[in-house]
Amino acid sequence: MQLLEERIRKDGIIREGNVLKVDSFINHQMDIELFREMAKEWKRKFEGKKINKILTIEASGIGIAAIVAAEFGVPVVFAKKSMSINLDHDNYHTRIESFTHKKIYEVIVSKKFLGPNDSVLIIDDFLANGCALEGLLNLVEEAGASLAGIGIAIEKGFQKGGEIIRAKGIQLESLAIVDTMDYTTGSITFRQQ
Ligand code: 5GP
Repeated sequence: MQLLEERIRKDGIIREGNVLKVDSFINHQMDIELFREMAKEWKRKFEGKKINKILTIEASGIGIAAIVAAEFGVPVVFAKKSMSINLDHDNYHTRIESFTHKKIYEVIVSKKFLGPNDSVLIIDDFLANGCALEGLLNLVEEAGASLAGIGIAIEKGFQKGGEIIRAKGIQLESLAIVDTMDYTTGSITFRQQ
């Protein structure tokens, strides 16, 4: 998506360790007009698919997912990071390793908000190694829900997540795929899609 790529070039900051900071329009301050355009793009890409729920993970996915949910006219559920590892029967559970925080989180979704009648579109801000998505996929499977597809704002194509997810035959729509980025020069290249 050209609009997003241009914005990353203009306002994204490349940090050492393969981290792309997009705090001025996605991860801290949020550009809702941009999110609306992204939501419209996903609406086009998932045209014809049955989607009755958007699923994301706190915290950084929530803003984008909320705007996407408004575009699709469906509710959004976010998986919560839980400190306690109490395996109760009211929630689905999974464990996720965080790329940015280098921690392992227990993540839960209430059984009240996800179940076998749901057809889910997963939305998240970044795809790197795919740990966050693997966790969300586990929750969808545990719930017996169907997966319509996955929408990612920025995929880092040089990390392995995208390849793993596409190998499963899932429709993965990343609006910008970064192929290379260099923190010493600030140069960034995107995959032609
Ligand atoms: P993964 O689980 O695919 O390795 O990483 C995905 C999660 O890590 C995303 O939900 C996002 O919050 C965070 N993340 C991964 N790489 C980056 C990055 O380069 N920049 C930012 N801002 N977040 C990232």
